[in-house]
Amino acid sequence: MTPGLGLRGAAAGRQGAAAGAAGRCGTIGHMALDPKIADRLKRTPDGLVPAIVQQHDTGEVLMLAWMDDEALHRTLTTGRATYWSRSRGEYWVKGDTSGHVQWVRHVALDCDGDTVLLKVDQVGAACHTGDRTCFDADVLDVTGAP
Ligand SMILES: [Zn+2]
Repeated sequence: MTPGLGLRGAAAGRQGAAAGAAGRCGTIGHMALDPKIADRLKRTPDGLVPAIVQQHDTGEVLMLAWMDDEALHRTLTTGRATYWSRSRGEYWVKGDTSGHVQWVRHVALDCDGDTVLLKVDQVGAACHTGDRTCFDADVLDVTGAP
């Protein structure tokens, strides 16, 4: 079994346990990602796809985060950007602790299904450092000219 299958298996196990214990049909996370979408995803070996996050009206590129199938499902069904935190090993609803919520306006897959684009309305800073975007603080010089 690949690590990716293991991760998805573990996620499915958690959902199953929660739904089974409380019988909470209809709660977030109970239903799975639409198979028609899941079939189009090309995941990393650990079962994730990168999500590029863009401010819907200005086009600012805000940040990059990671999603598994469940995170994408929750994002699509709640309208709140939800990611898989590789460092903490748990789902992460953007803004739940910081208040810097991302209201999802548009979601698209790229041409080969290995990247998700989220267009959101970002409340406050997208970056955990307090910067508006994750790309504000470390600009590199381009020294060659086309
Ligand atoms: Zn950042």
